Amino acid sequence: MATILLIEDEATVRETLAMNLRAEGYDVLTAADGMTGLDLARDEGPDLIIMDLMLPKLDGLSVCRIVRKDSDVPIIMLTARGTEMDRITGLETGADDYVVKPFSLGELMARVRANLRRSHADHRAQATRLSAGELSMDLLARRASLGSAELKLTHREFDLLAELMRNQGAVLSRDLLLNRVWGFDYIGDSHTVDVHIRWLREKVEADPSTPRRITTVRGVGYRFEG
Ligand code: CA
Repeated sequence: MATILLIEDEATVRETLAMNLRAEGYDVLTAADGMTGLDLARDEGPDLIIMDLMLPKLDGLSVCRIVRKDSDVPIIMLTARGTEMDRITGLETGADDYVVKPFSLGELMARVRANLRRSHADHRAQATRLSAGELSMDLLARRASLGSAELKLTHREFDLLAELMRNQGAVLSRDLLLNRVWGFDYIGDSHTVDVHIRWLREKVEADPSTPRRITTVRGVGYRFEG
C-alpha cells in the first residue's frame, strides 16, 4: 500500500483530501507547514508527496528543492490559479506534476494514480526497447528509428529521447532532464536542455516548428506525447 504525504496548511482542504485518499486505500501522513512536511518526507520516505505551494514556515518550492536533493519521490504541487501559477512560471521547482486550485477530487486522484504508476514503472527493471507510434528505440544497441528510417542521434540526444519516452505523458522539468541525462555534476544551465530539445525535434518531428511528439509545457519543461 502506498503512503502519501500531504502538506497543506488549509485545514479543511487537508482533512478532506486525507479522508478521500484514505478511502482510496492509501496510507496518509499530513503536515500543516513546510518544516513538518520536510521532516516527515525525510523520516517516513513516502511513496508520493502532495503539497501546497504556499505554506507557512517553509514554502512549497523550498521543500520541493530540498526533498529533490536526495529523493526522486513523485511530487504533486497544488497551486492557486493566477498569481501563484505566475510565480512558478520559469522556475525549476522539481515537482513532477501540478494541479491548479480549484480542482476536482477526481482530477487529483487521477494524477496521484498516474504518478504512482510511473514511479513504480521507473523502479521496475528498465525496458530495453521503447516505442511510441513510428518511433522506436533499442536501448542496448543504442539505435533509434522513425518508421523504417534509422535516426542519427548524438549520445545526448539518444539519452534525452529515451528519458522523455520512458516518461511518456509526464512533464519533465529542465532541471530533472539535466540531472538524469547530463548528470548531477554537469556544469551548465538548463538552456542546454532547450538546445538539445530543438536538435531532437529537427530529427523526430514532421514539422519541428509545431512539435507534436515533444511538446513544451510553458514555464515547466517538456513532455513526450507519443
Ligand atoms: Ca496554502
